Amino acid sequence: MPTWKLFPIPMQGQGTAEVESLPSYLLRSAYAHGTSGGVLLQVIHELGGCSQQTKPRSIGGKSGIATLARVNQFTWELRDRLAEFTGHDMSCEPLRFLDNQVYCISTEIGAFRWCPECLVEMARIDAPLYFKQLWHMAAVGHCPVHRVRLSECCEFCGSTQHSLKARHPVGYCAECGETLFNRRVPLSQKDIQPSWECPSHDVLEIFEKAARPGMTVNGWFEARWFLRSMAVSADHGKINSHITGELRDLLYECMRNWKGSCRLISLRRLAYLMNMSLYELLTCSGTAYRLSYDVLNIQSLPEHLKRRKKTVRNHKHVYRKLVAYLEEQQIPPSLKQAARFAQVSPGYLEYRFPSLVRRIVERYQAHRYQTSLVNRYRAQTAALQFFIDDRYADHTQSRKEAYRVLKEETGLPKWVLKDAIQTAYSALIPER
Ligand SMILES: [Zn+2]
Ligand SMILES: [Zn+2]
Repeated sequence: MPTWKLFPIPMQGQGTAEVESLPSYLLRSAYAHGTSGGVLLQVIHELGGCSQQTKPRSIGGKSGIATLARVNQFTWELRDRLAEFTGHDMSCEPLRFLDNQVYCISTEIGAFRWCPECLVEMARIDAPLYFKQLWHMAAVGHCPVHRVRLSECCEFCGSTQHSLKARHPVGYCAECGETLFNRRVPLSQKDIQPSWECPSHDVLEIFEKAARPGMTVNGWFEARWFLRSMAVSADHGKINSHITGELRDLLYECMRNWKGSCRLISLRRLAYLMNMSLYELLTCSGTAYRLSYDVLNIQSLPEHLKRRKKTVRNHKHVYRKLVAYLEEQQIPPSLKQAARFAQVSPGYLEYRFPSLVRRIVERYQAHRYQTSLVNRYRAQTAALQFFIDDRYADHTQSRKEAYRVLKEETGLPKWVLKDAIQTAYSALIPER
C-alpha cells in the first residue's frame, strides 16, 4: 500500500463543472493537518515541492487567494506536487481549457465567493464543504443552480474570507466561526435571478463541457486562428454576405490587436455577435463556421457585454487631492470615504497607491480602536453612576431603566451601553 506524504484528501467535484478551487483545497487540507495554509505551503516546498522562483511574493489576503485560484507557474506546480503527495487528481480542466484559449484569463479570476444554498446542500448530505472554482470567475455573479447572488462577506461579522490561517473548516467564517451558509435574513423572491437573465451562461457552458476528463487533450483549434481564417474568408468573399459592417470591422480590429481580442470579454462579444456559444467559438474548427442568417450589430450587445468607456485619470492629481484631503480631516476617514471623496473606487486606490492605502487603513483602525476604548470607559462610568449616584435615586434600579436613561444622556452605541450596564448591575445589585 503506498504511503502518501500528505493526507490523501480528494479534490471535490473533480471532473465536473463544480470542481473545487485550489485555495479551497489548500485550506481544507491545512485544516485536516491542523495547521495553516501558509505552513502547509512551506511543508510542500520542503518535501520537494514548488520551486521558490515561481512562488508569488505574497500569498496572503485577497490577492493571495486570487493568485492561488488563477493559472500560473506556481499553481501548476502546486497542483502537480499535491497530486504526487496525496495520490489524487488535482487538475482543473475548465481552467486548463480557458488558459489555452483565452489571453490573460487570470484577470477574470478573483478571490473567494460562495453560494450559501450550495453550501447548505453539501452540509445536508454530510459532504465536505468547499469553494467551487466557478465561484472565482468574475463573469459569474449568481449561482447557476440556485440563482442567488454569490456572497463575499460573512453575514454575521461582515468579514471577507481572505485568510489562509484555517482556524475553522472551509464553509465557516475565518473570523467568527459562524457558518457561511446560514442566512440572517431569509431569501425573498427579489433575491432570485430570473431564469431568462443569465449573463454568464456562456462561461458556465465552458465549465460544464470542458470539465469532462479527456475533453481538453490536444486538438483544440485556437480561437485566434479561427478568427483569422474567418476574416480571411470574409475578405475573399466566401462568407461576405453574412459578415457585414461592424462585425467585419470588429474582426479586422481583432486581427490588428491579437492579444486584446483574445481576452475573454472580446471573445464573448464576438461569439454573441456571431450567434455562437463561446464554447463553440473557442473549439471551432476552420470549416465549421456557424454564422447566423442574421448577424447582429454591436448596438444589440446585451448590457454585460457592452464596451465600457475607459476613464482616463490623472493619477498624480488624484494622489495630491487625496493627500490634501487627509491632512484636512480631524477624524481619519475610512478607505471608502476617501475613495468617495476622490471619486474613484477603493480597488483603484489599492492598486495605484498601496502605501497610502495602508496609511489610511491604519489611521482609521487606530481611531476606531481609540473611540471604542473611550466609549467603553464612558459607558462604564455612566452605568456605575446610575446605580450609585443619588441623582438617579428616583429611577427604578433596573437594567431596562438604566438603558433608557443613559441612552438619552450619553447617546452611546446600544451594545456598549448594555454590556456596561450588565457589568455594573451584576457587580452592584445583590442577587435577589
Ligand atoms: Zn447554489
Ligand atoms: Zn463571520
